[in-house]
Amino acid sequence: MAHINDNFQKLPGSYLFTEIGRRVNAYSAAHPEKSIIRLGIGDVTLPLPKSVIEAMHKAVDEMAVKETFRGYGPEQGYAFLREAIAENDYKARGANIEPDEIFVSDGAKSDCSNIGDIFGIDNKVAVCDPVYPVYVDSNAMAGRAGDYVAELGRWSNLIYMPCTSDNGFVPELPAAKNEMGERIAPDMIYLCYPNNPMGMGITREELKKWVDYAIENESVILYDAAYEAYITEDLPHTIYEVAGAEKCAIEFRSFSKNAGFTGTRCGFAVVPKALKVRNGAGELVSLNGLWSRRQSTKMNGVPYIVQRGAEAVYSEEGKKETKALVDYYLENAGIIRQGLVEAGYTVYGGVNAPYVWLKVPEGMTSWEFFDMLLDKAGVVGTPGSGFGPCGEGYFRLTGFGSRENTVKAIERIKALNA
Ligand code: PLP
Repeated sequence: MAHINDNFQKLPGSYLFTEIGRRVNAYSAAHPEKSIIRLGIGDVTLPLPKSVIEAMHKAVDEMAVKETFRGYGPEQGYAFLREAIAENDYKARGANIEPDEIFVSDGAKSDCSNIGDIFGIDNKVAVCDPVYPVYVDSNAMAGRAGDYVAELGRWSNLIYMPCTSDNGFVPELPAAKNEMGERIAPDMIYLCYPNNPMGMGITREELKKWVDYAIENESVILYDAAYEAYITEDLPHTIYEVAGAEKCAIEFRSFSKNAGFTGTRCGFAVVPKALKVRNGAGELVSLNGLWSRRQSTKMNGVPYIVQRGAEAVYSEEGKKETKALVDYYLENAGIIRQGLVEAGYTVYGGVNAPYVWLKVPEGMTSWEFFDMLLDKAGVVGTPGSGFGPCGEGYFRLTGFGSRENTVKAIERIKALNA
């Protein structure tokens, strides 16, 4: 008899964005005359850069001719793309990552989830709180998270690492040993910098502490650098800028937020050859070789046309165009930040990421703030509690909207406090 993976049924029913959609629809139905501005979205709004489009058109034409037609691609991704990534994203930053350590994929969301396939079910997982929900959900579906405890808004087997204004949104290192001296360090540690939802970065010194911790405790850091392109301060663009990271970290990257690939789909994971994890017999095994065997994007994963488009991101023209895209969203985030400060809010983020994380007024929950902002200003954001219990009391606005709507939304928010 076929039976399902019961872990899927443990996922809490209402997903954050479903609930937001429900409330916005109910409000629109009751107030059809009101104009609503959505600053809650994590999706980009500007079109793909011209250089990317031209490269994809050219690749389409190649597919129409017998001599240049391509069928299944290489399972790690085409060498032209992996070489461009290694050169521009790693070697140029002093990080010694080779093309055969890069695995092209259909995006960071898939990679962050699928990576769980090569880790045993009994690995202990640590996540930041608040956090991009995909790390939690994928581990819950795999059976690594235990049971969902609704009253706490937490999973019983996950280690939550609070990220609040008190610690600058960089968590404390988790305890490595208990009183008896036994190892209790997490085995898989998800870190994301610059992060979603808080929009905050991490310094090299802070990141080094995590790398040292992971090496000492035989943990693996799963480092999501999807927002790397948004860094404007002197912060690490990749975890491999930190010595030793190639022995303990996998990095996820994406063309979604720097080059508009959210609908086109392309990203990559870096699995260094030096990264080794123990098998059941206690022997150290290289994950690089194992990741070639992944099911997800093997053979029929990312189309040639899309990989040619991603390659164009690294052309001279592509670099200029993607910088212009990122600058546009960052300027929006700056407008949001500045406007909120003028309106008397405490704000974080928005300097090295497109996300602004504001403190909701004392005495209000983040959902109450959501309802108030929708009702009084017609502005939709994302309640911080949707990203984890420590997100309560915070609210996320994003720079991904149009300039016109961003300015209008901020004017409305400022008018509330006038
Ligand atoms: N990682 C983080 C932190 C994100 O916020 C997002 C999307 O919002 C992703 C990964 C997903 O990236 P992709 O579009 O490449 O799947």
